[in-house]
Amino acid sequence: MADLDNSGGGDNGLGSIFDAAMREVTKQENTPRVQARFYPYAGLSSTIRLRNGRVYARVSDVLSESPPNVLFALACILVAKLYRVKTRKEHERVYHEYATSPLVLDATETTRRNRGYKILTSPLGRTCNLEEAFAELNERYFGGALKRPVLSWSQGRTRRVLGHHDHVHDTITISQTLDSPRVPRFVVEYVLYHEMLHIKHSPRAVGGRTIYHGREFRDDERRFERFDEALKFLEQIASPVRKRRRRRGRVV
Ligand SMILES: [Zn+2]
Repeated sequence: MADLDNSGGGDNGLGSIFDAAMREVTKQENTPRVQARFYPYAGLSSTIRLRNGRVYARVSDVLSESPPNVLFALACILVAKLYRVKTRKEHERVYHEYATSPLVLDATETTRRNRGYKILTSPLGRTCNLEEAFAELNERYFGGALKRPVLSWSQGRTRRVLGHHDHVHDTITISQTLDSPRVPRFVVEYVLYHEMLHIKHSPRAVGGRTIYHGREFRDDERRFERFDEALKFLEQIASPVRKRRRRRGRVV
């Protein structure tokens, strides 16, 4: 865990990056000294505050390996916040582009997990352990060939999106709406099975569009034993709160 304290500035560390950002944003030479350090925040947060004429900055240590120009952009954004001046678009762009790149997103998620950040989601659920269900379906339909992704019940209840596979982060999330004694096990299994098919059939780009549910996908989907029954059930629970348009729960 990086925990660099560059309070003295004068070297090429975080402290001098912030000193430079102070000069850039305030357009002054004599600025308060910055005590800047990487800090083991759970996520990608960074903070800045002014106290007794000194500026204290803490930057998420997820960013400790990031290039100097990214740290400088972030420092400028934080200093601009502190002085309530507008952030330059260029800094926002540089920082945002880096912070949202898949690698950094993964690192953020991993540190969250490793630090025991309170993640409310879990594969356990009240009615069905998704990891068990995954293992069973994997045997039954895929000959055990699928690598298990991170499985979790969603935190919120969503009736519109009942399941989701994220192939960048290798996660399958199933809506908490289905974690109920009123929902038969085979229905949960069907939604999970659908998401598992997304692991088998990765999305294809065809003429500027991305095909998620191609022909092979749909054919495989019908191999689920109680396919029609499951669909019927899902249509019921996704039934509209508002009347006019009939909404179907989406399994994406
Ligand atoms: Zn889908």
